[in-house]
Amino acid sequence: MRQLIALAPILFFGACTTKEEAAKTDGTIVTTVAMIADITRQIAGDNQEIINLIGEGIDPHMHQPSKSEIDKIQKAGLVLYHGLFFEGKMASVLKSRADKGNPISAVAEGLDVQLIGSETPDPHLWMDVSIWSKVAKKIGDELAAYDLENSEQYQKQRENYQQKLNDLHTYALMVIQTIPEKQRVLVTAHDAFSYLGRAYGIEVRGVQGISTVSEAGTKAINELVDYLIEKKIPSIFIESSVPEKSVRAVIEGAAEKGHIVKVGGELFSDAMGPAGTYQGTYIGMMDHNFTTIVNALGGNAPEGGFQNKLQD
Ligand SMILES: [Zn+2]
Repeated sequence: MRQLIALAPILFFGACTTKEEAAKTDGTIVTTVAMIADITRQIAGDNQEIINLIGEGIDPHMHQPSKSEIDKIQKAGLVLYHGLFFEGKMASVLKSRADKGNPISAVAEGLDVQLIGSETPDPHLWMDVSIWSKVAKKIGDELAAYDLENSEQYQKQRENYQQKLNDLHTYALMVIQTIPEKQRVLVTAHDAFSYLGRAYGIEVRGVQGISTVSEAGTKAINELVDYLIEKKIPSIFIESSVPEKSVRAVIEGAAEKGHIVKVGGELFSDAMGPAGTYQGTYIGMMDHNFTTIVNALGGNAPEGGFQNKLQD
């Protein structure tokens, strides 16, 4: 009995704190990266105000949250972030929000281990459209739980969107098959494309490791140069959110040994194109990637891409 009395004020105080914290939210939905923001917008329509923190051309592995971003995370009604250590330098801010009990979800976490690998999961899940479609389902479920009144509408919009993703996935499978088999090798600045390689049947090599934090060493560059020469690979790719330096070093190294490698184009790895453009949507970003890769490696994809919306 004595114990119960002692506990009661603590429990009451706990509940009260949570309620006060929840009341402080401004009702916005904050997302960390554009790939999540776009899907959230596609599903929520005009019902929600969505604020994205890490924009075009910015590397999420390295991004240090500003004071105003921390503020937005704390005030939001709901926070949707990627997880799997993708937003490495935001972890403590996200955790402090979670500790307060306010709605927050790591939308890329909790997937089947077989899909993502268990030990240190590669965070670049959006590179396999069929996996990102499962993340779209999770985002739809989070929205429906957050705004019950509109949950039916969210479900319908989520299903429509997943249908489009399914079409894009089919397109990618088809066009990558048109690359001559020996040239199905994708060399990019950092290891963001391994899910793409696995899903669509193309070997993938990154000049840097999975995170952009470590710079490519001379030894790794030399090995890659020899590999390109051996396989007669015509093009390698730069990425919009990663400095070109190491990719240029590979091209120069190959030239010194008499093998001409071109830049096959710029791919979107961890950030999308400018907001308001087709490449500034998840579907447009991946359409651009697939179409650029296929045409630079000797395959045959329509210039306008999957739905004739790509333009130079
Ligand atoms: Zn990355």
